[in-house]
Amino acid sequence: MLVVDSLVTRYGAVEALHGVSLEVGAGEAVALVGPNGAGKTTLLRTISGLVRPAAGTVTIDGRATGRTAAYRVARLGVSHVPEGRAILSPLTVRDNLLMGGNRLPGSEVGDRMDEMIELFPVLGRRIDSLGGVLSGGEQQMLAIARGLMARPRLLMIDEPSMGLAPRIVGDVLDALHRVVATGTAVLVAEQNVGLALEVADRAYVMVVGDIVASGRSADMDENSLLETYLA
Ligand code: ATP
Repeated sequence: MLVVDSLVTRYGAVEALHGVSLEVGAGEAVALVGPNGAGKTTLLRTISGLVRPAAGTVTIDGRATGRTAAYRVARLGVSHVPEGRAILSPLTVRDNLLMGGNRLPGSEVGDRMDEMIELFPVLGRRIDSLGGVLSGGEQQMLAIARGLMARPRLLMIDEPSMGLAPRIVGDVLDALHRVVATGTAVLVAEQNVGLALEVADRAYVMVVGDIVASGRSADMDENSLLETYLA
């Protein structure tokens, strides 16, 4: 459903993406792995319409979005869970979820909230807690659930394991598996190659603005990827 073709993104004189191409099929889980500064965040932000590309195209279900405003990309069925989660700390878990569902018809919001609580029971237990008092892992669940509230067909998640203890990373991995099981396509950007390969059907390896390798996760070896590209 997502096709990115020869995308170039610049910040002034700095070219962060040098002509990146990738695809995500309907319901597919795809990982984008690469070290800090490779351009993963820039790629997700360009797909979302938060950053304008200098060249290349982004197509969602055959519709080119390259120079489209972010809210229109969201309407095409893409949700973006940003790096750092961007939980609204002074708002409750309920209100954070409601923010994610603000484009749904009013009659669907309650049902969608119930589905999110079924998917992430911890959010039900903390529904009246302020976002800012949740643990890092709970905040990541909330950020994912908030992104899912809009019933996207593609959920893009930037560095879900960032800053989390290894035990909590396991919880996030479980959560991602549950999201994929709902049939939502997922594009996850990760420095944690092990997590990325476990959750994704396919992976792309990105190094300084270019995709340098890609393939089925089952055919990729974490250690050799780390040694070859990510050392
Ligand atoms: P991280 O894991 O830190 O998010 P990343 O792979 O997502 O890394 P980006 O954040 O997309 O990488 O950064 C790619 C390149 O673009 C880096 O060289 C970075 O310094 C540069 N860059 C990112 N944002 C800006 C900006 N707003 N202005 C100028 N340069 C930027």
